[in-house]
Amino acid sequence: MRRILIIGGGAAGFFGAINLAKSCPDYRITILEKSNTVLGKVKISGGGRCNVTHSCFEPKELVKFYPRGGKELLGAFYNFQPLNTIKWFEERGVELKTEEDGRMFPISNSSQTIIDCFTAELEKYEVKVRLKSGVNSLERIGSKWFVDINDERLEADDIIVAAGSSSKIWKLLKSLGHRIVEPVPSLFTFNIADQKIHDLAGLSIANVKVKMKNKKSFTTGPLLFTHWGLSAPAILKLSSTEAPLLNELDYKFGIIIDFIPEVNEEAISERLMDVQRSSTKNIYNHNTFDFPKRFWNYLLSEAEVPEDRIWPELRKAEKSSLISSLKRMEYQVNGKSTFKEEFVTAGGVSLKEVNFKTMESKKASGLYFAGEVINIDGYTGGFNFQAAWTTSYLAASAISKKV
Ligand SMILES: Cc1cc2nc3c(=O)[nH]c(=O)nc-3n(C[C@H](O)[C@H](O)[C@H](O)COP(=O)(O)OP(=O)(O)OC[C@H]3O[C@@H](n4cnc5c(N)ncnc54)[C@H](O)[C@@H]3O)c2cc1C
Repeated sequence: MRRILIIGGGAAGFFGAINLAKSCPDYRITILEKSNTVLGKVKISGGGRCNVTHSCFEPKELVKFYPRGGKELLGAFYNFQPLNTIKWFEERGVELKTEEDGRMFPISNSSQTIIDCFTAELEKYEVKVRLKSGVNSLERIGSKWFVDINDERLEADDIIVAAGSSSKIWKLLKSLGHRIVEPVPSLFTFNIADQKIHDLAGLSIANVKVKMKNKKSFTTGPLLFTHWGLSAPAILKLSSTEAPLLNELDYKFGIIIDFIPEVNEEAISERLMDVQRSSTKNIYNHNTFDFPKRFWNYLLSEAEVPEDRIWPELRKAEKSSLISSLKRMEYQVNGKSTFKEEFVTAGGVSLKEVNFKTMESKKASGLYFAGEVINIDGYTGGFNFQAAWTTSYLAASAISKKV
């Protein structure tokens, strides 16, 4: 009888255990969890609703949501992608629904539904879970693995490492010869010390383009002003894409925002000229871009347009300053804040050292990786759980084919 140890009782650990137990009822599978509870992150995920996956069903499109690991996950998503996730949960009585932005949640709107599903499956297949069983050592002797927990030594044929962002486990993996890409935070909001921004708190713009100063690559999406700076997908995506660089810069850097990416400068200039010809109103009271009034007033004040200016009297310099505020507003970021307590870690086991067909280590046979322990992370929207489901599914499939 094959003995499998799974290190970590989180999303990847549970998903891997259930899939493996289903295909191999005669395997003895044990989940080792260091804390006194399992699925802690699933419980609080998605604001307690658990954003299980994202309704993006084309692997080539899906990989674009992963700043790290996208290329490597392409083949993996052809094996297990969001459609499989939906089916997997449906077969177990959990229906998922899609929100307007593509995020998928259980129809119950409760992460407890996912936890109940996992718990029932684990009981059905009699998978053992050991709490307060933090792994302290990992050793290969001959064809077996040995793991120390508390005062006990456990033996296994195969190990799935699904310990998330655990510095202890990364250290153990390093000692086995793995390269660990330096972990840094991803998915955070930007702090900007500017009262005028804070005064706009709660205001959102449907679609902006944002980039770091002196860099070409940009992200797009909704933008939210907060009482500490800027948030929402356009910012979170940039925090994720540039996570290692922003860490290097100690979160002090300049950004440039285009508040109206779908209209070019020439078209804006023409539009302003049209209003100048047709309106005699005060510029502050006649907003031609359908922006919220508060935001329009903010743009005008940043462009130093006097409050009593009427459209026909808009000066050339004021006009070009307004265009620049619309298309190239600059901000100095000074620090980061956590997004709704949601964060992931960029970094982990080097992608080069994992066989993405099986999730087995290229450095040690019988050692498999799943979830956040690997240098994979995605944008907010269900992509991180999808990576956990896919990688643990692949690891379980590969182990199930062993004799
Ligand atoms: C507040 C919050 C909300 C989130 N919401 C979403 C969301 O809605 N959708 C989404 O896609 N992603 C979300 N994420 C990200 C997502 O939770 C993670 O990507 C995902 O949980 C990773 O799964 P994992 O199993 O690899 O790691 P984890 O869920 O972190 O599980 C790892 C487990 O291993 C255990 N462990 C660590 N070290 C040891 C050891 N030495 N021995 C034994 N056990 C050990 C840990 O205690 C933990 O239980 C959220 C993250 C946070 C923090």
